Amino acid sequence: MDMDFSPEDVAFRDEVRTFLAENLPERIRDGARRTPGVFVEPDIGMEWHRILYEKGWVAYHWPEEDGGTNWTPTQRFIFEKECALAGAPSLSVLGLKLVGPVICEFGTPEQKAKFLPGILSGEDYWCQGYSEPGSGSDLASLKTSARLEGDEYVINGSKIWTTHAHHANWIFALVRTDNAVKKQQGISFLLVPMDQPGVEVSPILSMSGDHEVNQVFFSDARSHVDNRIGEEGQGWTIAKFLLENERGGSCHAPRLLKSIEGLEELATKQPSGVNGAIAHDPRFRDRLARVRLNAEALEVTELRILADLAKGRRPGPQTSLVKLLGSNIGQDIDTLRLELLGHDGLQLPLERPLYGNEAPEPVGSEYAQVAMGNYLNNRAWTIFGGSDEVQKNIIAKTVLGL
Ligand SMILES: Cc1cc2nc3c(=O)[nH]c(=O)nc-3n(C[C@H](O)[C@H](O)[C@H](O)COP(=O)(O)OP(=O)(O)OC[C@H]3O[C@@H](n4cnc5c(N)ncnc54)[C@H](O)[C@@H]3O)c2cc1C
Repeated sequence: MDMDFSPEDVAFRDEVRTFLAENLPERIRDGARRTPGVFVEPDIGMEWHRILYEKGWVAYHWPEEDGGTNWTPTQRFIFEKECALAGAPSLSVLGLKLVGPVICEFGTPEQKAKFLPGILSGEDYWCQGYSEPGSGSDLASLKTSARLEGDEYVINGSKIWTTHAHHANWIFALVRTDNAVKKQQGISFLLVPMDQPGVEVSPILSMSGDHEVNQVFFSDARSHVDNRIGEEGQGWTIAKFLLENERGGSCHAPRLLKSIEGLEELATKQPSGVNGAIAHDPRFRDRLARVRLNAEALEVTELRILADLAKGRRPGPQTSLVKLLGSNIGQDIDTLRLELLGHDGLQLPLERPLYGNEAPEPVGSEYAQVAMGNYLNNRAWTIFGGSDEVQKNIIAKTVLGL
């Protein structure tokens, strides 16, 4: 899409571009490219996090007084777009984009002083304890309990699908602190240290063999009352604030468009079996063009959200639209890629990581080696952060007024 950037924006874009060219190591780009999981592994992601931290660019969506950059929404968009074009890994959203903004918005000065520096520097690694067995879409039915004993909460229950809990030293959890009130009103938002006897992390392997998610068990685990964000019973309000950031906190379109460019290039190299390369097959060109148009339309929607943010408005239910479209376009890209790769795309190596010196030899290309893992893992996009059906319900109710 053509955008009329101001001269300041163009200067900013050039500054970001130069920084990326000089500071994004090939090892990290290679790791990002060859990760079949949804989430970049901490050895790659946190190395990039620390580079950005040293530059002062890691928390570009936080208020300046809490360690943010004071960039305009357009500058944030430019930054994300340039990172996507340069092949930088996505940063872990769990600290920077999920719990960080919650602490900035709802935390006390003491809580900000305690938690924000560790998120910024990357010293603390967070995971998200929302979903439970039986409480996913119907999140308000969650049962994990936190009972106040003196100045500590005693926590019992279980969280599931907890991304990177095996790397995390803190979990932000929704817990039930009151059973006597309406279910949404009995929930609190509690930060819990993972490194204690009452917390057990049990791995769940995805269908590609990747270990990204876990089940976390709390058996009389403890957390100080000062680690509760907001008031008791305010957890549902905070949970919704966080979910809006989870669904709409990033621009998906730049990465999707970069992937589509990769497909367009690949299509010029793959034989159609009939008449030259698949890129000349009108049916395939049609499908590729549709995906590109959808991604470009998503980019416009994301820019509209940024314009709202610039006017001080919260993005609201538009984030559901972005989540829905971004997830589905991503899956369309994965499907087209596998079709383009033919039998090379059927390989599913189980060794990890697929980057670095120990990586197994690819069959065909490195691109093909991760394609099936990407395809399988990315099925999760239409589930986590609220499934497609849940997003459609939100859009029907709040946007269309049905
Ligand atoms: C890879 C991955 C990573 C995740 N990471 C985390 C994490 O870090 N932390 C965390 O807390 N959670 C995480 N989740 C959990 C995720 O948020 C839940 O899986 C999701 O909210 C769906 O809940 P569920 O799995 O219990 O499915 P259910 O809620 O049981 O839904 C089952 C099916 O029913 C449909 N459905 C449910 N309710 C409705 C309705 N009202 N109308 C129409 N259809 C409906 C759903 O769309 C779905 O198709 C992750 C999930 C995945 C797959």
